[in-house]
Amino acid sequence: MINLEIPKNHPRYQSLKQRERLLEFYEKGVVTVSGLISHGRGEAFDYILGEKSTEFALNAEMAAFAKILESKNPVISVNGNVTALADDEIVSFAKKYNIKVEANIFYWSEDRINKIVDHFSNLGLNILGRKQDERIPGLVHDRGRCEREGIFTADTVLIPLEDGDRAEALKKMGKFIITIDLNPLSRTSIYGDISIVDDVSRAFRNFNSFNLNDAKKALDNFNNHSNLENIKKYIGERMNTMTVWPEI
Ligand code: ATP
Repeated sequence: MINLEIPKNHPRYQSLKQRERLLEFYEKGVVTVSGLISHGRGEAFDYILGEKSTEFALNAEMAAFAKILESKNPVISVNGNVTALADDEIVSFAKKYNIKVEANIFYWSEDRINKIVDHFSNLGLNILGRKQDERIPGLVHDRGRCEREGIFTADTVLIPLEDGDRAEALKKMGKFIITIDLNPLSRTSIYGDISIVDDVSRAFRNFNSFNLNDAKKALDNFNNHSNLENIKKYIGERMNTMTVWPEI
């Protein structure tokens, strides 16, 4: 792997660090080639969003935070990209609030599941995923694998960077769906009950900074449809008003 020294004042520092991290986890066998491509789609949206959490993202994150804490059996689903980009933040969040995490991947292989579970275990968090003894109805073959103790019986599922079919299938199971996806137009964002349009590492970092009283107010007033509409409008306005680099 090429190890580039990236100066901290480089305008794309965070973005380049993320790419480096994804390549490192690709080489470890945690991230797939398809995951690298998915990241590109996310990056393009993040570029337009200004690579920071918008007020709409923060609003959805606060609502999601309150919803997770008020759920009886919430579960966070993690795949290869999420592991590479937000592992430390997820460990802090899950430990602080005692929330279950399940390794759940689109391109299933026992080896990759084991690598994700072991990675979290090395960071001090035991996660589910090794004993996927149930199926999400409507999904064929390995794509439907999940654990009874985890996603299968969860009331609320947080699905960062998820595929649209799986988001739809979980929704059909009657679960409350919280998505994290930089594309507000993706099917995943559309199926979300709370759709967070933000980078996955920023979203978890924000969760770790929230106060429950403020978050409860955000949840009471939250309207997912109008929040998503506002984000789309915001992207349109940004496209019309952004000038040339480096002013973005
Ligand atoms: P869908 O099936 O929901 O329409 P898709 O086919 O567009 O999704 P996938 O490749 O299945 O996309 O999933 C990747 C999604 O993850 C993309 O919508 C992309 O915007 C998003 N994404 C990629 N990187 C990040 C990131 N770092 N943070 C948040 N979202 C991201």
